[in-house]
Amino acid sequence: MSGPNTSFDPKQVSSLNADAVAEMVAAAVAAIAGANSLSELKDVRLAHTGDRSPIALANREIGALPPAAKADAGKRVGEARGVVKQALEAREAEIEVERDTRVLVEETVDVTLPTDRQPLGARHPLTTLMERVADVFISMGYDIAEGPEVEAEWVNFDALNVPPDHPARTMQDTFFVASPDSGVVLRTQTSPIQIRAMLDRELPIYVVAPGRVFRTDELDATHTPVFHQVEGLAVDKGITMGDLRGTLDHFAASMFGDGIHTRMRPSYFPFTEPSAEVDLECFICRGASVGDPDNHCRTCGSEGWIEWGGCGMVNPRVLQAVGIDSSVYRGFAFGMGVERTLMFRNGVSDMRDMVEGDVRFSLAFGVEA
Ligand SMILES: [Zn+2]
Repeated sequence: MSGPNTSFDPKQVSSLNADAVAEMVAAAVAAIAGANSLSELKDVRLAHTGDRSPIALANREIGALPPAAKADAGKRVGEARGVVKQALEAREAEIEVERDTRVLVEETVDVTLPTDRQPLGARHPLTTLMERVADVFISMGYDIAEGPEVEAEWVNFDALNVPPDHPARTMQDTFFVASPDSGVVLRTQTSPIQIRAMLDRELPIYVVAPGRVFRTDELDATHTPVFHQVEGLAVDKGITMGDLRGTLDHFAASMFGDGIHTRMRPSYFPFTEPSAEVDLECFICRGASVGDPDNHCRTCGSEGWIEWGGCGMVNPRVLQAVGIDSSVYRGFAFGMGVERTLMFRNGVSDMRDMVEGDVRFSLAFGVEA
C-alpha cells in the first residue's frame, strides 16, 4: 500500500479522505473520554496514536499521494493528530486531579480516632501513698531520710535499745544475712533510719523516712514478709509530747480530712519512753456508728477509732547511744505501716493484692500526683 506511487487512486487511499479521518478522531476522542484511569488512558493512547493506530497508518499513506494531494491530506492528518493529542492531555490532567482528590479523601487521617496502643502502666498505690505522706511532712519543713535495707544489727536493734535477748532478734522474726553471727540483717523496721539520721545530721533534726522493711512472715491476707513503714523523727530543744500530738493530728487531718484527729493509748517500745499506740478517728463515720446497730461502719468496725501506728518520746538511752546530750535535747518519733494504712484508707482487704504486681490493681487507684 505504501511507497512511491505516481498514479493517485482515491480508493487506495480512502483512509485519508475527510470523513475517514473525522471518524478516526471521533473514535479516538470517545475512547479517551471513556478512560477512567491513567493505565486505561495508556492503552487508549497506544491504540489511537501508536504505530499501528489508524491515524498512524493513514499518515503513512500520505507518501502514496500525488504531490497535489499530499499537502491537503497532510494538513488533515496533522490536525487530527493534534486534536487527539490535546484530548489525551486534557483527559490525563482530569484523571490526575480526580486521583489526587480521591487520595485526599480516602487517605485522610483522623487524628482524633482512638488507637489500639499498648496500655500504660500505673504507679503502685503504696508508692503514691508514701509520697503523699512525705509531702505532708515536707510542707512542715521535714527532710526525707533514707537508709540501707541491709543493715547492721547494732543500728537495727542495739542502738534502738532493743536488748540482746529480745525475742524480735531471733531467727523467727529477723532475716539474717549470712549467719546470725554476721551482725548483718535485713532491716525489720524503718527506725534504724532514725539512728543514721541522728549520727549523720546536725541538730535540730526533723526527718520523715518512708521505706521497705523485712520480717520472716508468711504471705497471706494480712501478712507479708516485705512491707513498708513510714517513720518520723524530731530532735530539738524543748520538744514535748504536745508537739508529737499536734504533729500527728496535722498528719491525720492532711491525709484523712479536716478535723480528723488522733488519740494515744499507753504502750511500750524499747526506743521510746513514754510510748503510745496512735489511733486515728474513723474518717468514714467519725464515731457516729459507735453503739448504733443500724449504722455499722466497715472501716472502723463501729469502734470509732482505727489502730494506726506507734509513737513516743525518744528514749534518752537512744539519744545517748548516738552521742546526743539528752539533758539538752529531746525528741519524738512515730511510725506507721503503709500497707495497713492503704488497707483501711482504700478498703483493700487482701495484702496479697499489693504484692502480686497486677497492673489492674494499681490502675484502680488512678494516678495520684
Ligand atoms: Zn467508722
